[in-house]
Amino acid sequence: MLIVMKRDARDEDVRAVVEKIEGMGLRAVPMPGAQRTAVCVLGNEGPLDPAEFMQLAGVKEAIPVSRPYKLVSGENRDASVIRVGQATIGGGGFTLMAGPCAVESEDQCMKIAEAVSAAGAVIFRGGAYKPRTSPYAFQGLGVEGLKILARVRERFGLPVVTEAIDHEVIKQVAEYADMVQIGARNMQNYSLLRAAGHCGKPVLLKRGMSATVEEWLMAAEYIMSEGNLAVVLCERGVRTFADHSRNTLDLSAVLVVRQLSHLPVIVDPSHAAGRRDQVAPLAKAAAVINADGIIVEVHHDPEHARSDGPQSLYPEQFKTLAEELSRLPR
Ligand code: PEP
Ligand code: MN
Repeated sequence: MLIVMKRDARDEDVRAVVEKIEGMGLRAVPMPGAQRTAVCVLGNEGPLDPAEFMQLAGVKEAIPVSRPYKLVSGENRDASVIRVGQATIGGGGFTLMAGPCAVESEDQCMKIAEAVSAAGAVIFRGGAYKPRTSPYAFQGLGVEGLKILARVRERFGLPVVTEAIDHEVIKQVAEYADMVQIGARNMQNYSLLRAAGHCGKPVLLKRGMSATVEEWLMAAEYIMSEGNLAVVLCERGVRTFADHSRNTLDLSAVLVVRQLSHLPVIVDPSHAAGRRDQVAPLAKAAAVINADGIIVEVHHDPEHARSDGPQSLYPEQFKTLAEELSRLPR
């Protein structure tokens, strides 16, 4: 159930609602929105009686939430805007996130950050820990990579997003990063999702490569149910029979998530396509369907990139893409 507070409800009214819910042996999660606060009730096995809450001061409505993902559900909720450093995702803008697949060196990151920042990217991406198909492939620089990302933030004022590949590293990743990425391969790693719920930083949750929309939203619910409400969803392509691209970008999933959830949803055209020539057109398609932004791989020397060179845009291409995106009707 969702207890929707009146616009002029006071903090003590919200507190009284929380106490009432906790007094019933249930969990209460206050969710401040742009217009008003809602309090989500978790843990009830059967339906609750709305009248129990309607009599409390400051309560506008008590509405049953029909979806299994109570905190993620958009029913009677304003769309969320997530802050990442000084950048925002959601709320009608189109957030550009860009950077290399992997952090390879300080020089590499500085070169790429300078270019993508000048072109309009507001969040820098780069993996310090890389989940690779082969155990013999480059696995990332680890903590040295995190330190390089921190220096990128310092120099260019760009918040950074980077992946936590497992339970062991998530704390350390959250210390350095402004946003913690949970990768496609980990979307149903429930202990990692719970840890992300405690990491203290906004989370970028990629869709698993064979996950349904409901499974993806339930994964977000794991993070939020631990108290971290700052979650951004990322569609990055799913595995299909198609062999003309690395994955198949499922833009209709973005439309469905929009209808089902208040969380922002962005698109990763790079991992969807796996090839440079498809990245810009897919990015523009994401903008046209009103995704909340994109995360794009860019490399100044993709021929020598240690991972995902073939799908990385040259800085010039990213600049052109950013200009084209700014001219698209939205
Ligand atoms: C990445 O963004 O670096 C990455 C590995 O993506 P995904 O988890 O979507 O494959
Ligand atoms: Mn990559």
